[in-house]
Amino acid sequence: MQKIQPKTKICTVCKKRKSITKFYKRNDRRIGYHSRCKQCADKLHVEWVKNNPLQNLDNNRKWKISNPKRYWCNKTINHHKDYGIKVEITTIELLNYIKDIDNCELCGKEISWYNTKTSLNSPTMDRINNEDVIDISNIMLICHQCNTTKNVRTLKEFYEYCELILKRRDKT
Ligand SMILES: [Zn+2]
Ligand SMILES: [Zn+2]
Repeated sequence: MQKIQPKTKICTVCKKRKSITKFYKRNDRRIGYHSRCKQCADKLHVEWVKNNPLQNLDNNRKWKISNPKRYWCNKTINHHKDYGIKVEITTIELLNYIKDIDNCELCGKEISWYNTKTSLNSPTMDRINNEDVIDISNIMLICHQCNTTKNVRTLKEFYEYCELILKRRDKT
């Protein structure tokens, strides 16, 4: 379906003509934008949440279940930022990186995207080098168990650690 891309649009709520960038996109219509501007849509949404708190919780829960990867990306980025870590990665970039990854990049175990509780198979974003900033070239998607074991080590240090253990095993 060829989308019509107008430059401006009149908001059906505030009746103002605004640049098309002031409208949220939607993919299910021929004109790929909502009829109300972002400002009006946000205001209506805040009001709706206030009047429908339980429905809102339920919607969030459903959204989380049907968008586990996207939910994880938002959560992971915010979590790192909350810790004061510089994150030079956007949700979209992270989502693009992980979208086809279903196994831990270190041990190969299947990642559980659908389990909301933390388990050994939960996905975690790990920095390859802990001194460098978090950007798309410095991350790996690994399972919670690998991340706990690798801990603060760089990838190189972690491999050296594994080799050390194997060497000890072979000696005995
Ligand atoms: Zn408006
Ligand atoms: Zn793993």
